[in-house]
Order: sequence, then C-alpha cells, then structure tokens
Amino acid sequence: MTLTFKLELKSDYHVGAGHRKGTEIDSALLREHDGRPALRGSLLGQMLRDSARELLTTPVMAKHGYGICKASGDREEPEYCGQWQNNEGVCPICRVFGTPRAPRRWQFSSAWLQGMQAGATAENHSNDWGAQPVMRVRVSPETRRAEANKLFSEEIGDSRLVFRFEATWQGNGKPDEKEIALLAAAAANMRHLGKSRRRGRGVCRVQLIKVDNQEPPENVDWLKLFKQELVDKKWQPEPHEQNKSAPALSAESPAPAWQPVRVRVVVHLDEPVLVAHRSSAGNQFEGLDTLPGNILLGALAARAVRHLDLGKTDDYQNFVGLFRRGWARFSFLALAHEKHDKLYPAFASPLDIFRCKRQSPHDPQRKFYDRAFALTEAEKEKIICDLCAKQYDEEDAEVEKLECLQTLRAGFMQELAFEQREEMHVQINPATQRAEDGKLFEYVCLQAGQYLCGEIICRNQKVWEALRQCAELIESMESKQQAIPLRLGKATRRGYGRVSAFFFVEKDDKGLYQNTLSQRLPDPKQPFTLLLTTDTIIRDKWGRFPTRFEEDWLAEALGLEKGDLKLIRGFAKTREIDGFHNYLGLPRWRDRAFVAGSVAGIQIVGGKYTNDEIVKKLERLEWEGIGLRRHEGFGQIVVNHPVYEAIKNPHSGARIDIEWKSKPQRVKLENQIENERKFRQDWEGILAQLGDKHLDKHLKEGQRWRQFEFKEFAPVARLLRARSDAAISDLIKELQALGDFKLEQPEGEKELYVEKKLNYRIKLGENQTPAPRETKKFFEKEDRGKPGIELIKEAFAKLQTTSNDAKLRAIGVEMLALIIAEAANRAIKEGRK
Ligand SMILES: [Zn+2]
Ligand SMILES: [Zn+2]
Repeated sequence: MTLTFKLELKSDYHVGAGHRKGTEIDSALLREHDGRPALRGSLLGQMLRDSARELLTTPVMAKHGYGICKASGDREEPEYCGQWQNNEGVCPICRVFGTPRAPRRWQFSSAWLQGMQAGATAENHSNDWGAQPVMRVRVSPETRRAEANKLFSEEIGDSRLVFRFEATWQGNGKPDEKEIALLAAAAANMRHLGKSRRRGRGVCRVQLIKVDNQEPPENVDWLKLFKQELVDKKWQPEPHEQNKSAPALSAESPAPAWQPVRVRVVVHLDEPVLVAHRSSAGNQFEGLDTLPGNILLGALAARAVRHLDLGKTDDYQNFVGLFRRGWARFSFLALAHEKHDKLYPAFASPLDIFRCKRQSPHDPQRKFYDRAFALTEAEKEKIICDLCAKQYDEEDAEVEKLECLQTLRAGFMQELAFEQREEMHVQINPATQRAEDGKLFEYVCLQAGQYLCGEIICRNQKVWEALRQCAELIESMESKQQAIPLRLGKATRRGYGRVSAFFFVEKDDKGLYQNTLSQRLPDPKQPFTLLLTTDTIIRDKWGRFPTRFEEDWLAEALGLEKGDLKLIRGFAKTREIDGFHNYLGLPRWRDRAFVAGSVAGIQIVGGKYTNDEIVKKLERLEWEGIGLRRHEGFGQIVVNHPVYEAIKNPHSGARIDIEWKSKPQRVKLENQIENERKFRQDWEGILAQLGDKHLDKHLKEGQRWRQFEFKEFAPVARLLRARSDAAISDLIKELQALGDFKLEQPEGEKELYVEKKLNYRIKLGENQTPAPRETKKFFEKEDRGKPGIELIKEAFAKLQTTSNDAKLRAIGVEMLALIIAEAANRAIKEGRK
C-alpha cells in the first residue's frame, strides 16, 4: 500500500546540503544529482513524526493518555514503548513510526517535483535552479542579538515549488486504517519545513492526496476517521507482534540439481544509495567502493519475506534454501559506465598488472607499457618496465600499481570511480526545536544516476522460478526491458536506496565475457591466470585465513590433489571483512579476505586429468566460486580474464560490456519556475539583439541603449518598474502622456513628486531633479528622447510575441526598466545634459 502526499510551499525555504557552494554561498540547498531541489525521506518522515507527536499532546487528545513514552509525551522514560521488554501498551507514535525494538513498517521516499514520477530523473538543471542566495546573521539564542562575525549566506528554495512524496507499507498484510488516519492528520498538521521557521521561512501545506491509486475523498475521509477513532475514542494499538518462531526443519532439504541459470542484474540508482561498511570513524557513515552481494541478497530477501508465509514449512524451506543455503548465488554489484548503448562493468585492476612510471598518464600509448607478471617466475623476472630497462637501465625502469576500478573497452583499460556525495543530517531536539550538540551525522553515499551490474546464479531453472515468484521479480527480454523498484543498502526507510532493477536470463554461458572458458584456455595444461574478481574468504583446516597464495589451499579450493597444481607466482592482498547483524544487534564474525584483484599464475601438472576434465572443473568453479560465503558473492574467480589478452595484444579489441538500450527518461519539468527561467533566458537574448550588442558582452553594453543616456529616462525606468504588471497597451499610453504632468513641490521639502493623471506617485531620489516643463518636448525631439521612446515601444512589441503570461511579461518589463535605469544613471553620473 502506498500513500502519496503533496507538499506545497507557501514561502521560501532552506534545507541545507551540508556544504558550501563556490566561494559565495555558505550553505547550499540540498539537490538531486540532476540539479532539482530535493527533500530527503529522512527529513519528511521526521517531520511527520514531530507533527503527530504535537497532535497527541494537544489537550483534546492528551486526555486519552497517549503520552506513555518519551516518543509521544513529555516523559523521560521509557524512551520508547517496549523498551523494558514489556508488551503491554504501545502508543500510536511507536506503532506507526517504529522503535529500536520494532522497526517502522512505513518507508518514506525522497520527494520529487510535481509533474514527475517517483524515482524519475529530470533534465539537467543548473545548480542554482529554483533558488536564490540570501544573507543572514546568526542570532545568539541567549542574548537574542546578532553575534559578531556570524554573517553568512545561504541559498533559499523558491516558494513556488510543489513536491510529492510517498509512504509505502512494508509490513505484512494490510496496515491498520488508523495508522493511515494518523499519517493523514500528521500531514495536515505540518506547517513548517527546514530552517528559519521562526523567521517565516519554510511555511508549507501537506496533504494526503492518494491512497494506492485512489484519490480521496472518494474512498475514505481520513481526517474524519482520525477524529472518530483517535480523538473521540482512544486508539489502543496492538502490542508489537512476537516474532513467529520458524517451523523446525526436520531434515535439510537436498540441494537442487545443478543445471545453472545465470541471471544478469542491471540496476539504475534513482536515489542515492547508502552502504556503510563501518561506523568506526565517529559518527560518520562511510560508503563503500564495491557493493557486496549481501546487499542484493538482502533487498530480494526483504521482498520475499513480505510475500511468503514463513510459518509454513514449504515457504520457509524455500526461503532458507534461496537465501541461506546457496541455491542462488548473489554477486557483488559492480559500477558500470554507460556509453553508446553499452554498459561497461568495472572490475578491480589485477594486482599483477603494473604500469611504467615514466610514461605520462595522458599518453594514449601507455597501455603498451602495462605488463602482467602472474605468469612469470619470480626468480627469473623482476617487476620493472622492460622497455625502459632496455632503453635506460634497470634503476630507471620503475613501475607502479593501478589500484582502482577499471573498465575494458576495445582493448583499452579505463579508470572508473564511483561518484559519491555527502549529506549531513542533524538530530533535532523535539523540546527545543534546535539541533542537538554532537548529533551531526554525515552520510557518504553513492550518487544517484549511476549504473550497477551483477548476476544471480541459480542452481537450476526451478530455483530461478521460485526466486522470481517469491521476490516478485519481472524477467526482462532484450526487446522488452521492465524495471522493478528495489531498495538497496541502508536507510531505505528514509529516502535512500531506491533503484530500478532489470533481470535478464542469459542464454549462453559466457557470462560477462566474449569468450567461453575453453576459448580463453585452449590448452588446459598450459599455465593460466586465476583472478579473484571479488573478495575471497579462504579458511584452511586449522581455521586460519591464509594471507598469500599457496599450493596447499589452492589445490583444495580448486578440488585438486596437492601435487596436481603448480603455483607460478601469486599477487595477493588481504583485508578484514566486518559486518553487523541487525537482528542480533551484534557485530558479525570478522573474516579476512583476499581483496578483489588478487591473482595467481598456476598450471595443472601431472597427467591425472584429461583436458576435458580440467575445463569442466574450472567452468564449474567460475559458476560457483571458491571459499566461504559464496552465496553472498564472495570468491568469484575468472580464468584468463580478458584484460590479459588486451595487455598481450594491444589490437585484440578485448572488451567487457553489456548491450544496453534502455536509458532512463529524463522528464522535462513544466512548472512556473521552469517557465520563468526559460522566459528570462529567451527575453535576455531578444533584448541583447534589440540593443545590438555582441552576445558575449554584458547586456548593458548594447549600442542602442545609449539612446537612454539622458537623466530624463530615470523617471521612465521607475514608471516601468512601478507599473510592470500593467497591460502593455496601458503602458504605451502612459509613455505617450509623459511630460504631460503637473509638478508639485511642497514647501521646504527636498522630496519631489511627479503626479500624473493616473492615480499613483513616483518618488524621486535626492539628487534628481523633476522633469522640467519642457520635458514633453524632450520626448518629442529627434535628438533627445524620441528614439528612446521608440525603442521601448519596439521592445514592447517583441515582448508581446514572446509570452502571453502576464506575470512573465511583468518580469520582461522590469528587465527592460533595469537597462533604462542603468543608462540614465550613467548620464546622471557623468553630468550630461
Ligand atoms: Zn511510545
Ligand atoms: Zn617504461
């Protein structure tokens, strides 16, 4: 079930991105990757929660005694209902918005602008779209005075923005109607958004406008229901349900037969994705540069839990098999670069590939200087650049590691890195409505708009069918690509992690590569490279984690006898894999893994196996991986990775890519702000032409604007500004009447008023004299004011054809008035007559 809310702003607002913008602005507005202003789900959920709490503490509702915990009332403890393990009462806030003990089952999306769809991308906007900078001083909360040296500028969002956001039910079955009623009432009670609410900024109005696809009020009047059920009566929500105990699995169900199916997964990030790997760096949550398989596994398992009845033995067995027993293997998700209808998935550069240090990184030829060493014996070959060694000597032939993600495109390796973004979150103290000290969190997350690729290996077609059904996946075809929305990573209830996922069943068994294993390894008795493309956890029989390649464990991992295998050279690096078990609330077992890119050169020796057997064995290992936690994507191996072909033969054209025709549509925004932006742009161009200026110069430098360089045009500019919203025909009449006014000079006053027949006054500045009586003539003289007046009329004619919108025309008149005023001021400054 999905609730859609509409958020209209009634004044400017500021929701900061937590960083500066350029040198001018201290606090930039939070924006999406496409430049449009953003509101994160974390903020929206928090606002609804605050608003609901405020409702419950109003006298009319407080009489029901809803405030039984700190979350819903002015109590110090318990912090939340059920904190002390009792299951007696639960307050509506804890019920709807969740507690540490029972996570909330509503998921709040990030907001999108009206006229778009959830998760859509807009056409790129400049990063000042829909906002303007303002200066502010900080006021000390104690003295209520401006503090010294606390002048800063921030970017404020336009009051004409209209957002929408969703709350999606993530629990089992259907939500209680009273929960919806509370959310609807909390939304209607919401008045303020973001900072500076005491200064009248961020006034907003929020409404529940849709429940699933039903637009109220046709179905239920939720506010009325709120009054009936929560105000007139007391709503006593059910206590949190006990975790169902799973049925006992009397016997492990046997693993399904091995006829593997490879399902390619392509993911487009619609919202930033947050994948924290540890929080050891204080309160900073860091993102990762690769996404381990448990992220995909977790997202699909979460979907499955909602559709299966885990109380039933069959469903439970399926679930355990799919997600815990390795019937399906969920790979790491790799960043992919999109270009010309292709996706180029990235891989960690193999550790045995080195690049000549002398060669400039900008040299297009440099790939000829990359060399791989896994197949060269350590005693015989040093790790140096042999080209330089020949040309100079060994000391001048230093090499360096690549150490980053690479893509392979037409025989070229290219670096690729995740685009990350930082977002700051403060925790607001509900009592004071101020940020709490020391409660600032920074999230480093993956920027939306990027692609990730991975795969799911199912043991057979039946397993894929089971997974597809229980996680409600849609299989895409080449001709018809269909995305399902998924949520990946952390903070998915708070507006992070929404992605569009595509699933393709692959027909051949090449995987990502152009060639099958037997094509990559024509003679299985020859040495080959074994590259670990994901982190790999190996544990020996003593429970130790080896830290380098050794024949012992390699033979075992590959299912060979010791002595069947010769290790030529290994390049390995290890790291610790930490994890956190959310259910137990404890850190997971710490594993030590070989990092992706570790590689060994090996050779199968002895005559025990036929060529066929070796190929079969290696093929299976490429499907299944080696080591522990393979169902989470650890231990992925590749024999003779295409990158080695690219290094050996620069003209091989070796590549790793996926056909990709479906690009996310970029929505053209149609709203007032966008219309105004376009109008300003168009009108500026027209004015530039009219003023006969070179386009690269400033607007005021147009040659024809010199016709306004008379002090008499200053009142004309003011007239236009003051009457910018008048109809153009009226303005022309008023221009013609210019000079036809009576002067009024109150005795002893410096201020002068020019009063016209029409009912308004124009105030003149100090150093300006009123137009003398011969002004009328001035505007009729060819060498004085007449050309200027004609030019204004010409501009008006153009303005009338540019826009029909009265508001936009008014802006057009003001822009023209500014040009006239600038010209007149130049004349006044120079004292021209
Ligand atoms: Zn509570
Ligand atoms: Zn070199």
